[in-house]
Amino acid sequence: MNGPGGSPAPAMATETLAEQTVFLNGDFMPLSEARIPVLDRGFIFGDGVYEVVPVYGRKPFRWAQHHARLVRSLGELRIDNPRDAAGWRELVDALIARHPWDDQFVYMQVTRGVAKRDHGFPKGIVPTVFAMTSPLAPVPAAQLQNGVDAVSLPDQRWLRCDIKSVSLLGNVLARQAALDAGAVECIMFRDGELTEGSSSNIWVVQHGKVLAPPRDSRILEGIRYGLLQELCESEGIPFEVTAIPRDAVRHADELMLSSATKEVLAITRLDGEPVGSGKPGPVFTRLHAAYQRAKAAARA
Ligand code: PMP
Repeated sequence: MNGPGGSPAPAMATETLAEQTVFLNGDFMPLSEARIPVLDRGFIFGDGVYEVVPVYGRKPFRWAQHHARLVRSLGELRIDNPRDAAGWRELVDALIARHPWDDQFVYMQVTRGVAKRDHGFPKGIVPTVFAMTSPLAPVPAAQLQNGVDAVSLPDQRWLRCDIKSVSLLGNVLARQAALDAGAVECIMFRDGELTEGSSSNIWVVQHGKVLAPPRDSRILEGIRYGLLQELCESEGIPFEVTAIPRDAVRHADELMLSSATKEVLAITRLDGEPVGSGKPGPVFTRLHAAYQRAKAAARA
């Protein structure tokens, strides 16, 4: 495939990706035609935010919460919100409608916009808005059955992890360190306390109780954070928000991760050692079943 001027275009993960329709600054177009200026501050500084929304049966799941988080992230970075609530929903629905998959995950990104390179906020620029969608594959059966491996790592990210910023270098390096170790995800610690994974929240089960790290600026509050809390309540599973020391993770009965695309997944090996029984545990099994019921209800 050749790009403009006959030079090779950057490789796509799959050819079909290039045929997807994406949204950029007001227009729908094939992904292969979407272009942004190199002075976009998302490119230059990572100055932007994003959201990832799972879609089941063509309906965005927990849309209100994802929209609220996007608005909050924009506000924290003082980027003007380029669309009102109805406008965001319209964009997402239009993108979903243009693709053949019932289950998708929609990615939305807003950067501060294009300006001469200077760290300070430029005046009077228009935010860049980009959105795309991809088919949402079911979580692999082997991962559900056996759980996944994780490694523990120091959390080397900045101190505003509560903002869903596109500046993800710390997360990228952490994920790669996990992959290099043959694991699927990492579990990060700051000052001896559990924070989260590279792209997931982490949950500890101790004596039948689910422990969650505090929702502060050291973690991104996943939309599944609130959802799992609700599911624990409806299932009668004790739930506590508390600082979680390394030892509690090391000696957990069960560990779990949650994210938009992985839903809730058991971590059954940490740093090469089995977690609890080394198999997905009873709390995971109940929460996973409850999660599937919540999805089914949202589809209906
Ligand atoms: N933490 C981080 C750093 C993440 O990237 C994600 C995935 N967006 C999460 C937690 C989980 O968030 P959610 O449940 O909204 O996918």
